[in-house]
Amino acid sequence: MSDIGGSDLMISISGVRGIVGRSLTPELLVRLGEAFGTYLRSGRVVVGRDTRVSGEMVKCAVFSGLLSTGCSIVDIGIVATPTTTLMIEALKADGGVVISASHNPVEWNALKFFRSDGVYLNAAEGEDLLRIYYSGDFLRKPWDGLKAIECVSDAEAHHVDRVLSILDVSLIRSRKFSVALDCCNGAGVGVSLRLLRALGCAVEPIHCTPDGLFPHTPEPNFINLQDLCRFTRERGADIGFATDPDADRIAVVSETGEFLGEELSLALAAQYVLSRAEKRGRPVVINMSTSRVCEDIARKAGSELIRTAVGEVNVAEKMEEVSAVIGGEGNGGVMDPRVHYGRDAIVGMGLILEFMARSRRRCSQLAAALPQYAMLKTKIECPAARSREVIRKLKGAAKGARATTDDGLRLDWDDRWVHLRASNTEPVMRIIAEARAREAAQALVDEYTARVRAALNGA
Ligand code: MG
Repeated sequence: MSDIGGSDLMISISGVRGIVGRSLTPELLVRLGEAFGTYLRSGRVVVGRDTRVSGEMVKCAVFSGLLSTGCSIVDIGIVATPTTTLMIEALKADGGVVISASHNPVEWNALKFFRSDGVYLNAAEGEDLLRIYYSGDFLRKPWDGLKAIECVSDAEAHHVDRVLSILDVSLIRSRKFSVALDCCNGAGVGVSLRLLRALGCAVEPIHCTPDGLFPHTPEPNFINLQDLCRFTRERGADIGFATDPDADRIAVVSETGEFLGEELSLALAAQYVLSRAEKRGRPVVINMSTSRVCEDIARKAGSELIRTAVGEVNVAEKMEEVSAVIGGEGNGGVMDPRVHYGRDAIVGMGLILEFMARSRRRCSQLAAALPQYAMLKTKIECPAARSREVIRKLKGAAKGARATTDDGLRLDWDDRWVHLRASNTEPVMRIIAEARAREAAQALVDEYTARVRAALNGA
């Protein structure tokens, strides 16, 4: 997908990503460091990165830019994204940078920018940063205004302690679970192993060498996790967990080796949290593209269900505003406000294991008890500049559906829905559909793919 639109460089309010050796150059990275340092008016910045081989090159360039603006840096090394966001808060830093292209293939790398509360910059803040970047008007400090780099080597311990603090550790330990773990040789290895061992689990690792050489395409989906499915079944593990390379997303495999899908990670966590008497009735926040499974779970628990535009910051800000009890994104992003307003794979692991421990049910049984839907996702090429026009054309065409246009176009019928939105990271239109039966979801995807094509062709 790297060359759609003619360039693989994506600079947007959600950060910057590109291909190392082509678009993601040291010059560009230094300027981004200068822009963020200027945006923060100097200050203290926490920087973490995933295991990618390119991470060191990217880090050195970003450090140079940040230092030149008078920032001091806390380098926490190779860590999961949620570890960095927790450290921004813990160290009362002014902001943070994560160097990771998340689920993108190995040739990519990216920068993401965080504010002092450890949450991504929102759209307005991202615009401010981009304005500084494009203006080139950077703070440049003289020699005696330059600050130091401090290295902190054990940020993971803080992260794991925070997650353990919300769990019933002795209950989970008493069950002595066996857990298969696939971290795609990414930054989730250390923190996942620490958490699972603290929970008394026997860990069966696969692809847990944190060298950044990804053994499979990193997106944690059915196709890419076939090794884990087989391995979980062969080893007789109670559950299999997969993290993406920066460990903010989690996918689950049942003890039978069945891939449950990323959508069910958040659903299982939400089902468990809302099963606790003190949590029932409190709001749940998810994005527009997340399964109705969570909607049904919330309704049953008497909780308000609020949907936001796609983007972690949108979910995080709404969760804080309404004091949500759980939230996240259907792509495997579980957010528990007791730890942080951010997606965290090990929060998901802990909640799901505690669900199994307290209910005394197997993972496959817990999944089978959830509301059953079929969700299909696809994407088609659509230049960013034309996406509004396409959405406008399609909005009027839907009969009998409730239309929401906060984020692209979402059409809801009683038994199915479809969501069309322009990607923030690629020049494509994403189409996501869900229905009770797979055939109905497929029919929706086919219909709206054809409609987008027709709109692009001027029909
Ligand atoms: Mg990620």
